[in-house]
Amino acid sequence: MFLGSISRPITSIQGVGSKTEAMLKKAGVTRVVDLLRYYPRDWEDRNHYVPLAGFRTNSRVCTTVTVIDQQWIGFGRMRTLKLIVRDETAQAALLCFNRNFLEKQFVPGSRWFITGKFNYKYGEIQSGAFDYEAPDGNEGGSKSFGKILPVYPLSGDLTQKTLRKLVKNALEQFAHENVEDEIPRGIAAREGLLSKKDTIRAIHFPLSMEELEKARRSLIYTELFYLEIMIGKRALDRKSAAADVRPSSGMGGSLSALQRRLIGRLPFELTRGQGEAIAEINADMNSPYPMARLLQGDVGSGKTLVAFLACLKTIEEGGQATLMAPTELLARQHAENAARLLEPLGVRPAFLTGNVSSQGRRELLKRLAGGEVDLAVGTHALFSAGVEYRALKLVVVDEQHRFGVTQRSQIMAKGSMPDLLMMSATPIPRSLAFTVFGDLEVSSIRNMPPGRKPVKTHLASQSSEKRVYDFVRRELDAGRQAYFVYPLIGDDESPGESGLKNAVSMAERLAVEIFPGFSTTLLHSRVDEEEKRRIMESFRGGETRILVATSVVEVGVDVPNASCMVIEHAERFGLSALHQLRGRVGRGTDQAYCFLVYSEQAKHEKDDQLDFRGSLTEEGKQRLKVMLENSDGFVIAEEDLKLRGPGQIAGIEQSGYLKLGLADPVRDIRELIKAREDAFAILQQDPGLLLSDHRVISRLMEEAPPFEEVSL
Ligand code: ADP
Ligand code: MG
Repeated sequence: MFLGSISRPITSIQGVGSKTEAMLKKAGVTRVVDLLRYYPRDWEDRNHYVPLAGFRTNSRVCTTVTVIDQQWIGFGRMRTLKLIVRDETAQAALLCFNRNFLEKQFVPGSRWFITGKFNYKYGEIQSGAFDYEAPDGNEGGSKSFGKILPVYPLSGDLTQKTLRKLVKNALEQFAHENVEDEIPRGIAAREGLLSKKDTIRAIHFPLSMEELEKARRSLIYTELFYLEIMIGKRALDRKSAAADVRPSSGMGGSLSALQRRLIGRLPFELTRGQGEAIAEINADMNSPYPMARLLQGDVGSGKTLVAFLACLKTIEEGGQATLMAPTELLARQHAENAARLLEPLGVRPAFLTGNVSSQGRRELLKRLAGGEVDLAVGTHALFSAGVEYRALKLVVVDEQHRFGVTQRSQIMAKGSMPDLLMMSATPIPRSLAFTVFGDLEVSSIRNMPPGRKPVKTHLASQSSEKRVYDFVRRELDAGRQAYFVYPLIGDDESPGESGLKNAVSMAERLAVEIFPGFSTTLLHSRVDEEEKRRIMESFRGGETRILVATSVVEVGVDVPNASCMVIEHAERFGLSALHQLRGRVGRGTDQAYCFLVYSEQAKHEKDDQLDFRGSLTEEGKQRLKVMLENSDGFVIAEEDLKLRGPGQIAGIEQSGYLKLGLADPVRDIRELIKAREDAFAILQQDPGLLLSDHRVISRLMEEAPPFEEVSL
């Protein structure tokens, strides 16, 4: 039997009454196996003697003391017992907050095991939070000392003591159980993994720190191995389901006729990254399997052109293509580019968003279903109910991280095994690409079109904003344009945060006070779509010189004459938003500038309010520093990951994959790579998992699936 197959309810272990049962349920523990998998978040080493004199601030002491004296501090009801104790090395004070009852036990002359964190204060070594136990005279007679104790994540009314006791009881029962190992024997031997049974026991109550380390490694490896097995299997399934759908053309990655015509008409050459990406895409499209590829490339690296080239190939072969963008603004820009670049080649594009009027919409849907449209550009409206395609063969999703998993499968359902190309300017670090997009191929455009100068980034405090404004004025005088970005739309949005500038009032101030000679306009998410379009057009055309906005300009907007990006309260934006915003400038050949203006108000406030106000926290500072020192989106994404942890990265939380127990794909990247190699090698050699060594994998997946299945 596998661990995951143990189905006994938690009430079957000793010590679980209805009250405890309810508490455990809140923590997600209803079966015995849930408790066995309720892994500690830390371990307390009470194995190692650390005498009083050996304490380091906030590190743990573990020793045997003799009580010398009892003293009292404070008065009346606030009176607190203070025990003076000593071991062979030093004297210390134990403060018994809320534990005055210890007076009766800790009589002078008595001996105790104690452990706890100590500090040096008021001229003495002291602790206000210590655990104790009476040494009963016999060697090894103590219950928890001389051991390594688990420290569990707590919730509700659960205490460490309760959990330790219950897990112990569960383990006693478990000791009679026959549980199978989950990793093929060859790998387990190579990696020195513990048996499943030992692993579970040792992860809770290890006999030594070495054993604990082994148990941790065993668990982590097992989780990652099955994660990769699942990813690998999904890729296999996709391929086998499609194997007979279309013949391989044998053309590899070479360019098609229409693609060559488009490239020939461009005023520039493809960059190397673009060239490689389109070759990889062509090879995918010429293979018998549908493409599933992620195209990563920094803002401005020219992904759109690659997408158009992919569309051309599909269209040339008689299929329809769609290009979906996350916002109407961006979709419109793509549609305009499609009209400009592709119509001359005879392609029939169409534009579809939720805002197309019902009359026009009906007409459009008819043309889509009849195959009179080759390329449909739009928002998710492209895939809403009632939209039908005659022969949808390619789906391109721009800024894929904005779309959820469910949307993606909805999209794919509109065609029969269409090729899928996802584009992202928020590069996914390698470690996460493995886990989240493990079954996608990845193309990366790592270089920018020639002639682009890197954006010069400056940090400025709010108090020196005038210097920033003066600088921007000179750029405007020279004929260029500027963005100003704020975290809030208006002051109604977050009334409590009076110190924050917002787009609405700053638009007025910039227009009237600071840049009266230049036309200024305001853009944010509450502006309606038609108005948005007008605003963007006037900015792109240069009639408006200053665009004041919230992060709506984050995605995709392309105005080469804009040379300044001023982000106020920059500390409030996430790294990927900052990077995207900065990418809005530097799209022409002029030198571009980005000013990250941060507010200092945080400095005058109490520490505990910093987080609450969201002002210059340590993490905020780190983000600004990262922006100052890096321009490569891949590096910034890695830094983002370090600062925030994987769960926070856009799109990842939806993947449903990170329900891992102990493993952390970022921290455990080495194990992850190894597990991936092992898993993929096995699937390659034995896709059906039929060999006797591999049977354990298919049985486990069937009998006790380690993850919930999520389809991307
Ligand atoms: P992103 O990757 O951010 O979507 P875009 O596709 O919007 O980038 O391209 C940014 C700009 O670069 C566009 O104006 C586009 O015309 C231009 N561009 C694309 N490829 C090249 C190239 N090979 N050489 C010069 N400019 C290019
Ligand atoms: Mg783009």
